[in-house]
Amino acid sequence: MVSKPLCPKCRKEIPLDDVNVAKDIALCRRCGESYPFSDLVDSAPVRSVDLANPPRGAWLVQNPPVGFEVGASTRSGVAFFLVPFMCVWSGFSLGGIYGTQIYKMEFNPMISLFGIPFLLGTAFFGSYALMTVCGKVVVRVAGDEAVVFVGVGPIGWRRCFNWRKVSSIKRTEKLNNGNTSQRLTIEGEKRIDFGTGLKAERLDFMLGALQQMRARRGVL
Ligand SMILES: [Zn+2]
Repeated sequence: MVSKPLCPKCRKEIPLDDVNVAKDIALCRRCGESYPFSDLVDSAPVRSVDLANPPRGAWLVQNPPVGFEVGASTRSGVAFFLVPFMCVWSGFSLGGIYGTQIYKMEFNPMISLFGIPFLLGTAFFGSYALMTVCGKVVVRVAGDEAVVFVGVGPIGWRRCFNWRKVSSIKRTEKLNNGNTSQRLTIEGEKRIDFGTGLKAERLDFMLGALQQMRARRGVL
């Protein structure tokens, strides 16, 4: 099955007449740019995972004929260290900086300014710590409507996309201070990157399940 590639710039379909598979070139006439064809479509075969046996911490719920939900928990053993550390670190820094001001009922602007990085740190690492306790990464599809959700309970980051217009689902790498981390990328009307920090077997399951559900769509 060869799906029509989408131009990464204007997101319009590139007609197969403008694709040279042998030379691995796809030309978007609208933008006047060419791209490696293999980057625009699924070149790798569909990953085979056992949909009935997800690894611990991952799930697939099918709601035929309209859709499904595939997801994985971001719960991790790091929480055992991170959560107590956060409580102590935030407790001391914020308690010392703002607690004493509240206790003395006097506002000190310099010390309050000094505390802002600690507030931001608490918000940033606190949300990360919360993700390691009860966060999840979910892709929900109902008909053409699909959404990626990353967060805790109902609170988090979400991106909607058109499931029918997905051109590829793959694993990509994110470079971060010299470290690479694995994530999932869905290409279609737009590009959505998500799933960094998921355990490898959960990420594999989500990738395989999404690819298989997408391949199956052509059959049903
Ligand atoms: Zn284009």
